[in-house]
Amino acid sequence: MISGKTGLLALVGQPVGHSLSPAMHNAAFVADGLDFVYVCLDVDPDELPAAVKGLEALKARGFNVTMPHKRAMIPLVDELDEEARVSGAVNTVVIEDFGLRGFNTDGGGMVMACQEASIELSGKSVLLLGAGGTAAAIAVAFGNVGIGELHIANRSVERAAHLRDKLQGTGMKGLLVHHLDVLPDAEIVINATPLGMNEEDPIPVPPAYVREGRAFCDAVYRPGTQTPLVRLARERGVPVVAGDRMLLYQGVLAQKLWTGREPNVKAMDQAIS
Ligand code: NAP
Repeated sequence: MISGKTGLLALVGQPVGHSLSPAMHNAAFVADGLDFVYVCLDVDPDELPAAVKGLEALKARGFNVTMPHKRAMIPLVDELDEEARVSGAVNTVVIEDFGLRGFNTDGGGMVMACQEASIELSGKSVLLLGAGGTAAAIAVAFGNVGIGELHIANRSVERAAHLRDKLQGTGMKGLLVHHLDVLPDAEIVINATPLGMNEEDPIPVPPAYVREGRAFCDAVYRPGTQTPLVRLARERGVPVVAGDRMLLYQGVLAQKLWTGREPNVKAMDQAIS
């Protein structure tokens, strides 16, 4: 029940009407008996600074950031965690008395989704498809859990090399760059391109690459259906993490940042299933 003391949280993006985040976060607030409400705010790109100031003025506890604002949030926060700094993208903001703390929980969300699927990351060779903000956040989080080597394959090799250089600056080792057309061998493959958002998209690797001995993780999710990559991996009996598991766990991490406690993951999961 919304009361006079109800705390405010929001998703800031455009468009936002399709988002599963309100269902997921509000379910956890109810299950955990916390007096917060999470709403979606459709914000034009040139209104982002004003919207952020407004949320601060309204004493919101924080907010999530989605397309197209993740990058534009960087100069609007007072502090950045490592994933947000290296990826150049903020997906979660906590509003404190002293200012705004910007985080990126996408990479940590993918790590937790792999753990849930019993996909061991430590010491493994990982092929990351894509070199955008999500790929970078995943790369930082995978580096933090001690993967063996990271192959970054991107359509634009220059962008992949730029990400490699930024990751090297964090002390990460074992980084290799490839064009998306020439894939190296790897034990774990992550799709961090948007390929799969539309049913007619090609899968991001040649179909023969999806085989036993490899695990696949897809950042892309499509409510109510599987991406072509996830479908093919399941058909072939290959371990796979679908994008909705990453969505769940990036939300779990955001919820913890706002409330300081472990959320009811089961309630959040049921809300988006
Ligand atoms: P981004 O910054 O725009 O980066 C997109 C990357 O994909 C770039 O490396 C780009 O290559 C590559 N790419 C784009 N179109 C391609 C195509 N047709 N073929 C091959 N490569 C292509 O995007 P992002 O923010 O990282 O997001 C990537 C995906 O992750 C999105 O689909 C998003 O929905 C998803 N995501 C999911 C979650 C979740 O919770 N499950 C969270 C965050 C993001 P170039 O550099 O060559 O252009």
